[in-house]
Amino acid sequence: MIRDLVRYADPRLFAPNAAADPAAPDFPGLLADMIETCRAAPGIGLAAPQIGINLRVAIVDLTVGAEPDALVVLVNPEILEATGEQKEDEGCLSIPDVTERVIRAARVRVRAADETGKVRELEGTGLLARAFAHEVDHLNGTLFVDRLRGLKRELTWKKIDRRKAKGLW
Ligand SMILES: [Zn+2]
Repeated sequence: MIRDLVRYADPRLFAPNAAADPAAPDFPGLLADMIETCRAAPGIGLAAPQIGINLRVAIVDLTVGAEPDALVVLVNPEILEATGEQKEDEGCLSIPDVTERVIRAARVRVRAADETGKVRELEGTGLLARAFAHEVDHLNGTLFVDRLRGLKRELTWKKIDRRKAKGLW
């Protein structure tokens, strides 16, 4: 089922997210809905709070459903290591039509369980590293705009608040 996307400034984006249990009866349904909602958006990643569920679950799929094997399920993810630097445009399904250049690590190593509860370590570079960092940020109540600095950060937040006030979402 495609769920409604939670948009800024909904408090659920900033609420604490509890550890998720892949063995919980409602977990498979939640995950299926997240995958469907992310593909429909379309987006390359989605965190549970973005559909109003404050659990530490996120998905990343750089192919947006084109290659089923590309789907990465991140249950209770933790960033183990973040090295190097990349600066690329970034956006978020919870802040429609706003993209800004964000500095992120070029390589990110993350530890997370998969949908069966098996814990493994994953490594991403480039866009995959960016997506891992963006989704783990969501689970900590951080939006990509929080990563901007100085005047750019101020101007971007003003732009977002203006769009929000106009009722664009
Ligand atoms: Zn996002």
